[in-house]
Order: sequence, then C-alpha cells, then structure tokens
Amino acid sequence: MLVQQILKAKGDSPVVTIKPGTLVSDAARILAERRIGGLIVSRDGVEVNGILSERDIVRSLAVRGAGCLSEKIDDMMTRNPVCASKNDSADTILARMTDGRFRHMPVVEDGKLVGIVTIGDVVSAKLTELSMEKDALQGMIMGH
Ligand code: AMP
Repeated sequence: MLVQQILKAKGDSPVVTIKPGTLVSDAARILAERRIGGLIVSRDGVEVNGILSERDIVRSLAVRGAGCLSEKIDDMMTRNPVCASKNDSADTILARMTDGRFRHMPVVEDGKLVGIVTIGDVVSAKLTELSMEKDALQGMIMGH
C-alpha cells in the first residue's frame, strides 16, 4: 500500500496550514476546532516550513507556563519536518514515524505540500489491507 492510496482513502479535504508568526493560542484554537493533533506551518500553503503538534504546545506549557500561549509558534514548531512522498509505502512511513517518535508526516511532491498522513491513517489503511487479505485467503481455502 502506497501513501497516495492512503491520501485517496482520506478524501480530498485540504491540508490545514498555519503561517509562521501565528500566535500559539490561535494554533491551539485551530487544533481544537478541527479536532486534529498537528498543523503544518507554511508561509504560502505550498512550501513546508515546519510542523506544530499539540505535544509542542503541552511541553511548552509545562516548561514555560501559560504565558507561552501569547507567543508566536516559530520557536515552538519543528523546522524541516521529515516528509513523505506519494510513492512511499505505508510500511516505510510507519517505520519512519516509529523511529522518529512522531505521528504526522506532510506529503510533498516536487517541493509542494499535497497532503498529510497521520499514524492513525496508516494504521487504519493497514487494518483494511489485512482484512481484505484475510478474506481473500479464506475464499481461496474455502474454494470460493
Ligand atoms: P506528534 O507525535 O506528531 O504529535 O509530534 C511529536 C513531536 O515531533 C513534536 O515535537 C512535533 O513537532 C514533531 N514532529 C511531528 N511531525 C514531525 C515530522 N514529520 N518530522 C519531524 N518532527 C515531527
């Protein structure tokens, strides 16, 4: 299974991005409103400049206190995040996410942002694939 198939299964919903300079409180509000755990930071909606996860905000709250909510996201985000390409396999990006201990990966094609996959998307795609394989094998064994 390839990343492009995972993106297709997710539908065509646009990737939520925020610009550098956004306030942390605004980013937290967008995460809550959209019910997502990570935001891609992009100056123009095309180039990936960074990624901000709910974990970055929680860590900052713990270390620096609530005052960090009125700061800009720029020092809090992870710059140059690890990205996937549409032709990467689900197993490859699952390994990259597990090794890197992160759950979000921007998908980039020719330097342009085309999607985002989360560890939840990959696990869900793998479960669907396994279930289809199981049905096919059962069918072969039963002679259907
Ligand atoms: P996450 O598990 O994705 O919520 O993020 C955990 C930590 O990894 C946070 O500090 C994120 O900023 C960072 N992070 C998230 N996605 C990536 C990525 N694709 N590449 C590098 N770091 C990331």
